[in-house]
Amino acid sequence: MSRLLTPDICVIGAGSGGLSVAAAAAAFGVDTVLIEKGEMGGDCLNYGCVPSKALIAAGKAARHAEEAERFGVTVPRVDVDFAAVNDHVRKVIATIAPHDSQERFEGLGVTVIRAPARFRDATTVVAGEAEIRARRFVVATGSSPLVPPIPGLEAVPWHTNETIFTLRECPQHLLVIGGGPIGLELAQAHRRLGARVTVVEAARAMPREDPELAALVLERLRADGVELIEGASVTAVSGTAGAIRLTLGEGDTAREIEGTHLLLAVGRKANVEGLGLEEAGVAFDRRGITVGADLRSSNRRVYAIGDVAGGLQFTHVAGYHAGVVIRALLFRLPAKENREIIPRVTFTDPQIGHVGLTAEEARARFGTARVRVLEAAFAGNDRAQAEARTDGLVRLVAARGGRIVGASVVGADAGEITNLLSLVVARKLSVRDLAGFVSPYPSLSEAVRRAAISYYADSARNPWIRRLVRFLARFG
Ligand SMILES: Cc1cc2nc3c(=O)[nH]c(=O)nc-3n(C[C@H](O)[C@H](O)[C@H](O)COP(=O)(O)OP(=O)(O)OC[C@H]3O[C@@H](n4cnc5c(N)ncnc54)[C@H](O)[C@@H]3O)c2cc1C
Repeated sequence: MSRLLTPDICVIGAGSGGLSVAAAAAAFGVDTVLIEKGEMGGDCLNYGCVPSKALIAAGKAARHAEEAERFGVTVPRVDVDFAAVNDHVRKVIATIAPHDSQERFEGLGVTVIRAPARFRDATTVVAGEAEIRARRFVVATGSSPLVPPIPGLEAVPWHTNETIFTLRECPQHLLVIGGGPIGLELAQAHRRLGARVTVVEAARAMPREDPELAALVLERLRADGVELIEGASVTAVSGTAGAIRLTLGEGDTAREIEGTHLLLAVGRKANVEGLGLEEAGVAFDRRGITVGADLRSSNRRVYAIGDVAGGLQFTHVAGYHAGVVIRALLFRLPAKENREIIPRVTFTDPQIGHVGLTAEEARARFGTARVRVLEAAFAGNDRAQAEARTDGLVRLVAARGGRIVGASVVGADAGEITNLLSLVVARKLSVRDLAGFVSPYPSLSEAVRRAAISYYADSARNPWIRRLVRFLARFG
């Protein structure tokens, strides 16, 4: 017999987005049901951000040891014990897991159901033995790796982000299909941990990033020994475990490459299947559930957040969406997402981050004459010099009145610097604000201030302003 639950909020999916909604609702004593069919914590904790960043950290440690000599420090030999690296990855997940656990959420007062959820109609969800009729539903079911329809793939073993972090032995030669953020982060980490790595990308690697900035990252990847093949489509896969062959291109120009392991990193698909969205009257397409800026679906009772909501797929977006929905559900405040303040970072070395408009987008919106691009290279930054990490650049896009409407950074710790840039863009700050605050010396973020100050370089060259300044200096 099924159990009928009638909470105020029913959240489907206990990943980054769903957990944030459930925790906030529970904190205010709102009756909440949380349904999860897999691991608590979702992709980010189990198969995404956390294991990938733990693996990248291990790769970075190996790389730093190899590079120590340029600081006058000799490390006799760098040995990588891949099983121990995997232990480190597991340990990081295990340390964070209690925060996302069923026990913690039940302790907060949330009813947690571990079963697949499915809408039976516009007002009812069924999960395991329970039937949930909530006032509002929040769908936070995330996304899954796309498996491309390449002939032969069904006959060879392959990995995605859901399985690659279980490897206890370093792949001898990892073939990666896909040169986006996930493919490149994992390619570089494995290379630094001892694998030979070949990445095949049909278009250009890092397609979303400014080619000039992306070039710095791709150069480093190549210098690390990652073989990067761009503009080549994989048309067939063959071979067996340990000897996997990819055919690149077709006809006379086709060629084959061989590796021991295969990682698919060609994109993500929103988890809309099996949710009964048709029965619930929730419109969706191949990108995910169709929502307005208020994250409400075509069924006004149902919200969608995070990866399944068809926009940018990041943990911080899922968290931001959760905040938007919480404002609407708990406080009845008008809340809308603003995609222009959402940053993105790829955690390769060097990292690359961006927020707001690109120079091209700003010119199209405000007119070429009103847009200025301000840059500061890491080579002119004392911290970067001290740490021998001088490959990098901060770029600010300033519109009328010097307001910063977009910013990019490539280089060491670009992810951390993107925090400052995100604040600047979100709070609509200007070059004046950046020029007027005190940045601790020596820090990489100082490059942001230096780029902002360059806005005034023209004034220093203007003969009238120069004359005025000289006059004031002498007689003022
Ligand atoms: C390798 C990799 C690295 C990444 N690195 C970063 C990074 O560095 N920074 C960053 O911001 N983002 C990163 N991401 C993206 C990030 O993981 C996702 O954007 C984030 O997890 C999305 O959160 P979510 O709540 O939408 O979905 P998820 O966290 O995936 O949670 C969805 C949950 O819903 C459950 N579910 C699905 N269907 C049902 C159903 N019918 N019933 C019940 N439960 C269901 C799933 O089991 C899952 O637990 C990375 C992703 C990958 C794959």
